[in-house]
Formats: sequence, C-alpha cells, structure tokens
Amino acid sequence: MKTIGLLGGMSWESTAHYYSDLNEGVKKALGGLHSAKIAMISVDFAPIEKMQKSGDWDASAVMLSDAAKRIEAAGADFLLICTNTMHIVAPQIEENINIPILHIADATADVIKSSNIRKVGLLGTAFTMEKDFYKGRLESEHGISVITPDEVDRKIVHDVIMQELCLGKIEDSSRKEYLRIIESLAASGAEAVILGCTEIGILVKQTDTGVPLLDTTAIHGEKAIELALNSG
Ligand code: GLU
Repeated sequence: MKTIGLLGGMSWESTAHYYSDLNEGVKKALGGLHSAKIAMISVDFAPIEKMQKSGDWDASAVMLSDAAKRIEAAGADFLLICTNTMHIVAPQIEENINIPILHIADATADVIKSSNIRKVGLLGTAFTMEKDFYKGRLESEHGISVITPDEVDRKIVHDVIMQELCLGKIEDSSRKEYLRIIESLAASGAEAVILGCTEIGILVKQTDTGVPLLDTTAIHGEKAIELALNSG
C-alpha cells in the first residue's frame, strides 16, 4: 500500500472527513485492522485565508510548498491538497516536490466523463467559481462545460463557506439557499453540480436533492484509495 500525503487544515473541518474517509475506504477494501497509510500536515488556516483575501498567492505558494516538502520527506508517495481553492497554487507546489499531486479537478473530471455528463454547475469559494485555474482546467483539459451561479448567489455560496462551514456551523437556512442555487443551476442546463469546496458536503447531501451532486472531498478520497491500493 502506498502512503497518501495530505496537505490539510484548509479547513480542518473537511480534513477530518478526508482522514476518516481514507481510513474507512481502506478498511472496507482490505478488511480487519487495515487502515490507510497517511503522512499529513495540517496548516493554520487563518494566515492562508488572509493571503487569499489580499491576493498574495505567491506567499501562500511558499508556505504550502514548504509543508508539501515536509510531507514528502515523511514518506508520502503522492500528495492530496485538501482544498479546491488552494489548487490555485498547485503548479508552484508541484515544482517544489518530487512526488505527484492528485489534482482534485482531474479526479472530479474523471467521474464526470465516466458518467457521460457534458455540462456541470460549479459551487465553491469565489476564487474557485471565478478564477480560471479550476473552471479552465475542466473546460480546456477535459472538455467539460461549466456554469456558475450569478454574482449575488456566488457571494452567498462563498460567505456560507468562509463564515459558517469552515467554522463548523451548519445552518438549515444556508442549506435551503444552497439547494435553491443547485436547482437553479440544473434549470440552466447543468446535468450535475460539483460541490467544489471540500466543506460543502458537510451541509448538503445527495439525499437533499434530485440533482446529481459531485462531492469533491469524497471523489478525491476515493481516487486516493484507488491509487494507494492498486499501484503496488
Ligand atoms: N476547503 C475549501 C475549498 O475546497 C475552502 C477553504 C479554502 O479557501 O481553502 O475550496
């Protein structure tokens, strides 16, 4: 079994799910007392969030590359960056390490393509919904058409992530808003909606809606288990 590298803490609320999903997945696959081999660093999210706000992506790339190097030194065979947003600096992190990154958008794109879905809705932080590093990758590298909510709804989605979900607050009123936004993306032609922020799956479940949901935390974890178990 390979050792899975986790760059977590962004936020720790979702990293906790990565940790338990990976262990549950390996236990299910191998049985008995088997559990995942994991090398993890969990960063302090507060300075990262400040850098996001001020657009200081270079400083965040330095900080996360340093953590990634330490994860590699701890024996990881490949790396998961446990947040969609901070994949914005995945290319810089990649340059600083010798192990591969399992990119969350590529893992999600594989599931989309194998389901023959051509058009998806995308929910995530403002950075994920508005910048090109994520949508652009899905569109140009995978041929998937991506739509996002309008400006007012993007702000609602972003604020719920940063002011509630990353702080462990789960509000029914926010779930209702998310479900309304998911329905409106489906009405605009999305065949499925990407929960493109690792905390959204804590708020919204597939049982809440008939619109197919693609939970990036679950997908990323499943791909990691596959990679850890199937490659010697
Ligand atoms: N975990 C979130 C994501 O997947 C948001 C927190 C962050 O800004 O990194 O994008």
